[in-house]
Amino acid sequence: MGGFSYAAPGSVDEVVTLLGEHARAGRRAQVLAGGTDLLVQMRGVDRTPRTIVDIKGVAETGTLRLDGAEIFIGAAIPSAVLNDHAELAALFPGLLESADLIGSTQIQGRASLGGNLCNASPAGDTIPALIATGARTVIAGPAGRRELPVEDFVVGVGRNALAAGEFLVGLKLARPAPGTADAYLRFTPRTEMDIAVAGCGVSVTLDTNGVCTAARIGIGAVAPRALLVPAAGQALVGTRIDDAALAAAGAACSAAASPITDKRGTADYRRTIIAVLCRRAAATARDRARGAGA
Ligand SMILES: Cc1cc2nc3c(=O)[nH]c(=O)nc-3n(C[C@H](O)[C@H](O)[C@H](O)COP(=O)(O)OP(=O)(O)OC[C@H]3O[C@@H](n4cnc5c(N)ncnc54)[C@H](O)[C@@H]3O)c2cc1C
Repeated sequence: MGGFSYAAPGSVDEVVTLLGEHARAGRRAQVLAGGTDLLVQMRGVDRTPRTIVDIKGVAETGTLRLDGAEIFIGAAIPSAVLNDHAELAALFPGLLESADLIGSTQIQGRASLGGNLCNASPAGDTIPALIATGARTVIAGPAGRRELPVEDFVVGVGRNALAAGEFLVGLKLARPAPGTADAYLRFTPRTEMDIAVAGCGVSVTLDTNGVCTAARIGIGAVAPRALLVPAAGQALVGTRIDDAALAAAGAACSAAASPITDKRGTADYRRTIIAVLCRRAAATARDRARGAGA
């Protein structure tokens, strides 16, 4: 593998400068976080020379900020660090359920939310869960910083909205309102070390009477990219998230899906299973929300 070089910039500005220089010179540069996707791809399908830009030394990409109305999760924090964080788990149990499904203990020692999102696999587990929480991406580039909702960040299979010279610094999540909770469920043929046949993230807010006032539902592995399904969330709002509302939300997820058939499942199977996952994840989020101030 000739023609490779490695850089470890120490700040957001240095990363942007390095990526910009490469873009202007027509040379390839690629960001490295945990490397659990990147190194597999470099060894297998994509051997073209490039500069690897390791962002783990950039303080902001390793920062977790939980004070205030907005939570910030640095793009390169390994999921093992997040999974062990009791305060974050109390705020976003569903998001951490999704991070805890990535690979094995060894993989989680490196794998980041930022890498899962930027890799833009239709089956990336954290993406529907992030969509459910309403997370926003924080992007740095030559023109400064911008933010984009997670549901607009992934634009296709393996493609994201980053322009030349840009990279993902981290994720912003609003502190959940009282009575809010999330949940994530996926289905895989094997219990571990497999990718999702379908995955569903749900966040709900209940008022003090147990009535749902807000809901967001993200689905994964059933379309070229993870999707926000507004109709599924709407099916829960105004209800106590009873069986009829759960069935309507599940049906909305099936309707929004445009799955493929592959060795893990047929398109019909995926359409069926996403409704089941939605119903179960929404019921779990509801039960958690009842214990979270509703
Ligand atoms: C054995 C194994 C099991 C796995 N199981 C699962 C699973 O169950 N579920 C699942 O969803 N995934 C799984 N994965 C895939 C992978 O571990 C995850 O996608 C992981 O979250 C990637 O994070 P990373 O930090 O390692 O990303 P990296 O490999 O470092 O990067 C991934 C891609 O994103 C780009 N990138 C990374 N960070 C940034 C950034 N901040 N800005 C711009 N671009 C960036 C890289 O250039 C690269 O293209 C598995 C992988 C392996 C090897």
